[in-house]
Amino acid sequence: MPTPFIDIHSHHLISIPDIFVIQSRFVHEVDEKSEQPFSSGIHPWHLNSRPLETDFSKLEEIAKLKSCIAIGETGLDQAIGTSIDVQKQWFIRHLELAEVFKKPVIIHCVRAYSDLIQIRKTGKFKTPWIIHGFNENAKVARDLILLNCWLSVGHRLLQENSKVAASFPKIHIDRIFLESDDSALSVSEVYEKASLLLQISLNDLKLQIHQNFVHLFGKLV
Ligand SMILES: [Zn+2]
Repeated sequence: MPTPFIDIHSHHLISIPDIFVIQSRFVHEVDEKSEQPFSSGIHPWHLNSRPLETDFSKLEEIAKLKSCIAIGETGLDQAIGTSIDVQKQWFIRHLELAEVFKKPVIIHCVRAYSDLIQIRKTGKFKTPWIIHGFNENAKVARDLILLNCWLSVGHRLLQENSKVAASFPKIHIDRIFLESDDSALSVSEVYEKASLLLQISLNDLKLQIHQNFVHLFGKLV
C-alpha cells in the first residue's frame, strides 16, 4: 500500500482517498458511533458560549472511544476575551484527561507560548503534545521539542513572510506533522511546500511523517 498523506488536524469532515485524516471535532458535534479517527475537546474560543461542565462530562465519555485517538483541540489564546486563568483551568483539565487515557493532545496556542512552556515544565504531563498551526521562530520550536512536543504546520507554510516559513527548515524532521486545519488547502499542498523547503522528495517526506505518526500513535488506525 502506498504511504498516505497524513493530515493531523482537519475540520473538514470529508474523506479523500490517499489522505489519512484526524478529524477535529468540537465535543458538542461528536457522533459517538463514528469509526473515523478523530480528536475532541472544548476549543478556547467556545469557553464563553458553551455549558462547560456538560461538555466536559461528554468528553470524559468520548475519550474512552477507540476512534478518539487524541484529546483536543484545546489550548490557550491571548487574542480572545476569555481570561487566561479561565483558559488555563480548562486546558489543564484536558491535559489531565489525556494523561488518564494516555492519548496525545492537540493544542491551539496563540501568543501564549510562555504559559504553555511553563505548564509543560511542571513535569505533570507526560503524554505527547502536538502544537497545531505552529507559526513561531526556531527558538520556540526548539524549546517545545526539548519538552517532548511535536509541531504541526499548516497553510502558513505557504505564506512567504510567515515565521514558520523561515523556521521550518531548522525544525527536527522527526518532530513535524502537517495539517489542513480549516483552510481551503489540501494537506497535499502543504506537503509539497514542505518538501521544497526541506529539499527532500515528496515520497521521503511522506515516509518520515508516517514514521512520526507511528511513533506517537502506534499505527494508522
Ligand atoms: Zn483547528
